[in-house]
Amino acid sequence: MSSDIQQVILWLIYLFSSITFILGLKRLSHPETARRGNLMAAVGMTVSILGTIFLYRDDAGDRLHNHIWIFGGIIIGSIVGTLTARRVKMTAMPQMVSLFNGMGGACAAIISIVEYQRFDFYGWNTIAVTLAALLIGAVSFAGSMVAFGKLNGNVSDKIFPGQSIINMIVLLIAIGLGAYLVMHPEQNMGILAIMIATCLLYGILFVLPIGGADMPVVISLLNSFTGIAAAFGGFIYNNQVMLTGGILVGSAGTILTILMCRAMNRSLLNVIIGNFGGGAVSAGNGNNKGNIKEISIADAAVLLSYSKKIMVIPGYGLAVAQAQHIVHELEMLLEEKGVEVKYAIHPVAGRMPGHMNVLLAEADVSYDRLLEMEDANSEFSTTDAVIVIGANDVVNPAAKNDKASPLYGMPILEVENAQNVIVMKRSMNAGYAGIDNELFYEPKTRMLFGDAKASLQKLVSEVKAN
Ligand code: NDP
Repeated sequence: MSSDIQQVILWLIYLFSSITFILGLKRLSHPETARRGNLMAAVGMTVSILGTIFLYRDDAGDRLHNHIWIFGGIIIGSIVGTLTARRVKMTAMPQMVSLFNGMGGACAAIISIVEYQRFDFYGWNTIAVTLAALLIGAVSFAGSMVAFGKLNGNVSDKIFPGQSIINMIVLLIAIGLGAYLVMHPEQNMGILAIMIATCLLYGILFVLPIGGADMPVVISLLNSFTGIAAAFGGFIYNNQVMLTGGILVGSAGTILTILMCRAMNRSLLNVIIGNFGGGAVSAGNGNNKGNIKEISIADAAVLLSYSKKIMVIPGYGLAVAQAQHIVHELEMLLEEKGVEVKYAIHPVAGRMPGHMNVLLAEADVSYDRLLEMEDANSEFSTTDAVIVIGANDVVNPAAKNDKASPLYGMPILEVENAQNVIVMKRSMNAGYAGIDNELFYEPKTRMLFGDAKASLQKLVSEVKAN
C-alpha cells in the first residue's frame, strides 16, 4: 500500500476516533448510556493508537519501529490499570481518578521534555507550545499527586502566611524560565531542569492549601489541565485525534469545575484560596446543642410502612457501608406496600461527582426514582418521611443559617421540610467538612445509630414482618 493511501486511512481513523470521543462523551451525561459511551470512546482510542503505531510516518517517511518498547509499555500499563480499576473500592475512586489524571499530566510533561531535545527541528512557536504543555502537565501531575495524598489521608492541608503571593511568584518564575527558553534558540537542559522543578513545586503549592471538601473541584480542574496539556501535544505532533481528545477533556473538565462550584455556590477563586472544610475533622460531639432523639428499628419500620411518600437521601456512609443493594430491597418492599419511594441526589454527596448515581445504578435502582436537588427540595413538604443514610454535610442546615459555617452558601437538601426525618449513621461524628449538624437536634429528627447496612437489614426484616 502506498504511503499516501496509508496517510489517508490514518486521517479517516482519526476522524472516526474523534467522532467516537464526541458521541461517547455525550453518552456519559446519562447513567443509562454512560457505560456504552465509555466503551465507544475506548474503541475509538484503541483504533487510533493502533493506527498511529502501524500507519504513521514522520516527515522523513519513516515508520515507528520501536514496537517492543511500545507494546511492552501498553501491556504493562493495561495490566496495572485493569487490576487497579478492578480492585479499587468504590470509596477510593476519587483517589484513583486523581492518580490516573496525574499520570496523564506526567505523560504530557515527558513528551514535552523529549520533544524539547529536538529543538533544532522545531520553530520557536512549536517550542513555546511544547513548554506550555510541560508547564501544565507538570503542574497537573504534582497537583494530582498531592490531591491523591490528601484524599488518601496521607497529606493534610498546609496554610502559611503569604501563601497566595508565594504561589504566584513560583508560577511567574516557571513562566519566565519558559519564555527565556523560547527566546534563546539554543538547547539549555539546565534551565529546562529548573523549569520542571519550579512547575512541580507550583503544582504542590497550588493544591496544598485547598480545603478537604473542595477536593472534587480541584480534581476536576486538574483534569481539565491534563486535557489542555494533551491538546498541546496534538499541536506538537500535528495529530488531530490527540488535539480533539485533549480539547474534549479540557473543556469537559472546565465545565464540570464550573458546575461543581455552582453546586457549592462558590467561586473558583474562593475554592482555590478559601480553605473550605480543610483540617482535622472534629469529633462533632454536639451534646451542648440540645437533645437528640433515637428511633427503634420497630418504630422506624412502622413509620415507613404507613407512609405515603418516602425520600431516601444517600450519602458517603451508604458507600462506606456498601448498603446500596439492601436499600433497593427496602424500596421494593415498601413499594409493594403502596409507599412511593424516591431518592434525592445531592451533586456533591459522597466523594466524587456522580458517586451516588453510580452506587444506586450498581444496585439496579431505576433512574426515574432519582431526583436532582432542586426537584427533591420542592417535594419535601409533601414527603411523609425522609431517611438520611450516611449523609451529613449535604443535609446540614448550617449551610443556610450559619454565616460563620464553612458550609455557608452551599445549597443543601432541605430535608427538615418533610414530616419526619430518620438519620442513619454510626455516631454523632461530623461529616467531611468537620462540623456539627443542627438537623440531628431538630424535634422532627430521630437518629437510628449503627452501620447503615446492618440497620437497613434489620429494617427490611421488620418491614417484612409488619
Ligand atoms: P459526609 O462526609 O458529610 O457524611 C458522611 C456520614 O456518613 C458521616 O457523618 C458518617 O457518620 C456516616 N457514615 C460513615 N460510614 C458509615 C456507615 N458505615 N454506616 C452509616 N453511616 C456511616 O457525606 P455527604 O455525602 O453528606 O457529603 C459529602 C461531603 O464530601 C461534602 O462535604 C462534599 O463537599 C465532600 N466531598 C464530595 C466529593 C464529591 O465529588 N462528591 C469529593 C470529596 C469531598 P458516622 O461516622 O457517625 O457513621
